[in-house]
Amino acid sequence: MLVFRKKEALRQHLQEHRLQNTSIGFVPTMGALHQGHLSLIRKSLALTGYTVCSIFVNPAQFNNPEDLKKYPRMPEQDIALLEKAGCHALFLPETEEIYPNPPLVQFSFGALEQVMEGYYRPGHFSGVALVVSKFLHIVEPQIAFFGQKDLQQCRILEQLVKDLAFNTRIQIEPTVREGDGLALSSRNLRLSQQGRQTALNLSKALQQAAEALQSGKEPEIVQKEALAYLEQIPDLEPEYFYITEGGTLQELRNVQKGDQIAICTAAYVEGVRLIDNLLLSYQGN
Ligand code: AMP
Repeated sequence: MLVFRKKEALRQHLQEHRLQNTSIGFVPTMGALHQGHLSLIRKSLALTGYTVCSIFVNPAQFNNPEDLKKYPRMPEQDIALLEKAGCHALFLPETEEIYPNPPLVQFSFGALEQVMEGYYRPGHFSGVALVVSKFLHIVEPQIAFFGQKDLQQCRILEQLVKDLAFNTRIQIEPTVREGDGLALSSRNLRLSQQGRQTALNLSKALQQAAEALQSGKEPEIVQKEALAYLEQIPDLEPEYFYITEGGTLQELRNVQKGDQIAICTAAYVEGVRLIDNLLLSYQGN
């Protein structure tokens, strides 16, 4: 696997592949790679001719400086995992390479970012959209791969690519979980064994809510009960638990059989902010 630290070198290299009509797949990450990231790499290897991964802990998307400082960084281990997976190239830039000057551009996504992550992490999606725009300009992939684990991010990036006419398709892949249901996350590395057990209640609450909805219970009641369930778990601080329309992530209205529903939650465990979600096709009523 080739490792690039400079955008110009990566651009030139990718140009050679493009001239040979090789399709390029791109998997942007913040590192501390796990099987969730590797599932995206594998999908890219299956669907495109040349796979580029990036590892960049993007300061512009952290609204909490402590979270940025504590974000796990393990480039050597990541490189070994990517090599083993068969990834072709890694873009591993320093912060100055991506932000030579403080950026002035800001993005806003209307109602889509006024809920959930956008509401609780002001400026977060502007930072995500900024770095993804830069990376798409550098890599110019045919397909960029993202995890459903960050569902609102997926919806934001679908909008970004549409509004700015990027010549890239956004492909969303399912959340990879541990056998017991815990969604894989780089942030899980910061949890103790006990904290990990506590965190399991997030996927449990999502699953319970999905079953209650499918059996015809009112979404509003299911939402309240799920939040009450999470609130009584010791050492778990839920931030939100929402049942929303799956595409717009807005409040559910007149839900019909077959509609796509997203159940999304965020909570703190041992000071670590965790998110998870489920997408389902409504079978109630
Ligand atoms: P991150 O390094 O956390 O910014 O994630 C990089 C990409 O991997 C994003 O598209 C995430 O949605 C995706 N991802 C993170 N965790 C998972 C997971 N458990 N399953 C699938 N994709 C994931």
